[in-house]
Amino acid sequence: SDDRMISAEVREEDEDRTLRPQQLDDFVGQAQARSNLKVFIEAARRRGEALDHVLFVGPPGLGKTTLAQIVSRELGVNFRATSGPVIAKAGDLAALLTNMEERDVLFIDEIHRLNPAVEEILYPAMEDFQLDLIIGEGPAARSVRIDLAKFTLVGATTRLGLLTTPLRDRFGIPVRLDFYSVEELELIVKRGARIMATGITEEGANEIARRARGTPRIAGRLLRRVCDFATVAGVDAIDRAAADRALRQLEVDAAGLDSLDRRYLTTIAMSFGGGPVGIETIAAALSEPRDAIEEIVEPFLIQKGFVQRTPRGRILTPHAFKHLGLAAPPPIAA
Ligand code: ADP
Repeated sequence: SDDRMISAEVREEDEDRTLRPQQLDDFVGQAQARSNLKVFIEAARRRGEALDHVLFVGPPGLGKTTLAQIVSRELGVNFRATSGPVIAKAGDLAALLTNMEERDVLFIDEIHRLNPAVEEILYPAMEDFQLDLIIGEGPAARSVRIDLAKFTLVGATTRLGLLTTPLRDRFGIPVRLDFYSVEELELIVKRGARIMATGITEEGANEIARRARGTPRIAGRLLRRVCDFATVAGVDAIDRAAADRALRQLEVDAAGLDSLDRRYLTTIAMSFGGGPVGIETIAAALSEPRDAIEEIVEPFLIQKGFVQRTPRGRILTPHAFKHLGLAAPPPIAA
């Protein structure tokens, strides 16, 4: 699904470099998370101690990496970033950890995808700042203990349930990120337009914000593409009509749903009578990985009330049928 126009999971690094907020005060939205982090960062700084380990949980593109960078900047320490699947062996993690200085931040994206052998050695590292490594093999093998600098681990994951309990329990500061409101996304779009030196009206920013799937990364990406259309059409300020025209071209509908979202909803409506239908069945029907559907497609559709997750499977709501322009099936008799 890499060609999805509004996919949030694909990073475009040069987008990130220009639009990424650098300080907690430039970071729009997530008010609760921001104010808590502010207190914990300030307390750690005053004590001269490492910040407790932080876990960011939320769908892709909501600002987990950005917040991790901001945390290290506000602490005035070094930032190192890696991701769960990249750390293949215990030795890879050991190399990273032994290079950390006191109070540094190590960011591990997709931390739920750590190899279990690596996760094992992460526990004492997080808890006691010690590494227990086995050197050699067979009868000659011996274990060595290495003291580490007191660092802060910042983990990111799309869903809390994907983490093992022992790993989850070792984060002192768990932070949930939620989808952004249209008002918040409007601020992000206007800030982006300012940085890109592009004219945009309030209505133009509102149209992009409404269709950004609650996600800053998507807002940024849509803004860039709408700008491209506006440039070619010779429009100097993006208004609602210009934004709407461009977004239609990009197949982003009025609710901000993209083609995979609509394919998901249509499949449940047309092939499974609106549900209930199991996730595996839906994944097979769409030829998409189950994980991608659960982590990327469903959270927004559930939050918007298009679909419900029940013990018997997914069920489309009347709202979804209306959005698709289909008649809802009669309610199932109890
Ligand atoms: P995640 O790590 O959760 O997938 P990122 O931190 O990489 O998300 O953010 C994705 C993009 O969205 C980045 O370009 C970032 O600059 C932008 N972004 C995220 N959150 C905000 C925010 N609160 N305000 C402005 N831009 C944001």
